[in-house]
Amino acid sequence: MSITDKADKMPKIYKNCYLSAVSGKASPRDAIKAFCTECMGYIRAEITNCDTIECPLNLYRPYRKAGDSDD
Ligand code: SF4
Repeated sequence: MSITDKADKMPKIYKNCYLSAVSGKASPRDAIKAFCTECMGYIRAEITNCDTIECPLNLYRPYRKAGDSDD
């Protein structure tokens, strides 16, 4: 699947973040956001509730709740 095809299939609100990341223009934070949103099927609440602590991005994921800890 091409970058354009993939971007066209995702929810519009995540498209710019993704395109920015794959073109090397995003901040590391936004690149992680693009990755996490795809990982969780573009469902923000799933990222918030992600409990995959073995994922190296877990402590860097967007939309964490205040007070989320690393234990
Ligand atoms: S932190 Fe969670 S949502 Fe983000 S990439 Fe890892 S498993 Fe997926």
